[in-house]
Amino acid sequence: MIIVVRPNSTQEQIDHIVAHIHSLGLRTDVSQGIKRTVIGVIGEEDLVRNAPLAAIPGVEEIVPILKPYKLASREYQKEDSVIDVGRGVKVGGGYLGMIAGPCAIEGREILFEIASAVKAAGANILRGGAYKPRTSPYSFQGLGEDGLKLLREVGDELEMPIVTEVMDPRQVALVDKYTDMFQIGARNMQNFNLLNEVGQTKRAVLLKRGMSATVADLLMSAEYILAGGNKKVILCERGVKSFDSSTRNLLDLSIVPNAKGLSHLPIIVDPSHATGRPDLIPPMALAAVAAGADGVHIEVHSCPEKAMSDGPQALLPHQYAAVMNQMRQVAEIFHRTIPVPHGKA
Ligand code: PEP
Ligand code: MN
Repeated sequence: MIIVVRPNSTQEQIDHIVAHIHSLGLRTDVSQGIKRTVIGVIGEEDLVRNAPLAAIPGVEEIVPILKPYKLASREYQKEDSVIDVGRGVKVGGGYLGMIAGPCAIEGREILFEIASAVKAAGANILRGGAYKPRTSPYSFQGLGEDGLKLLREVGDELEMPIVTEVMDPRQVALVDKYTDMFQIGARNMQNFNLLNEVGQTKRAVLLKRGMSATVADLLMSAEYILAGGNKKVILCERGVKSFDSSTRNLLDLSIVPNAKGLSHLPIIVDPSHATGRPDLIPPMALAAVAAGADGVHIEVHSCPEKAMSDGPQALLPHQYAAVMNQMRQVAEIFHRTIPVPHGKA
């Protein structure tokens, strides 16, 4: 539930309401807006079901949130969240996060080559996996901490914030030392210990949709992170399992307006993992921007045939640059802007 505080209430009254909620065994999230203060009540609401909260001085209104996800819900926050990813890059509320890079970090030279190319095309967040969730234990599992160091170095050199996957709660402290944004992969969307752990950090989190997760499941997973105190969650659609083996997954673009109706969190689309096919990635990327996505996540490799993971779905740098130009045109129709390549007007 949300407690709406009366305008002109004193700080003492607000503190008193908060202390009262805490004494009932619940936590609070206070947002002090210019016009009014609202207090989000976090925890098992049954504990306050019969408490006469409306009688506390300063309380104007008690608004129940009927959805199982509370902090993530549009009822809780009407305005779109704008997530500060780092290095001045924002995602949400009209700011687009254009994430690009190789599936896996493979070495400094190749990473720098790909990163320079995606930056020149206008990408504003660099991706690369150091810990790879591979279906086979015999496939390349990533360079680990050495990979993180390379990604940090290249990101710093090109002045781009970086995002990389974290797979295990025990890796969070280490990955936190290097990255600007954590990625929680589809396979870990409901790894609740991992969600709790990143919820304790101050870093942005790119939360990918599980391969058979509903929009409500995705928002409940986001709620874990938000309830831990970390407000910087960006959702990501990357396709769900389907019966059609002609594509890697089934891209559910309707989740973009669907999630936006239900939640204030930004949502990005990843047509690379959703389709698994370079011929389908550009049209789906354009459709994602038209559908209102807050960004697009694309895997790029300068030599896909030598890529150590997800080579067959990688776009070549010039293909990425071409789709970026087209996405820019689509974004303009909807009065949104995609970052222009560095150095250009
Ligand atoms: C990835 O981004 O490389 C990845 C493994 O994505 P997903 O979790 O969506 O499969
Ligand atoms: Mn990949």
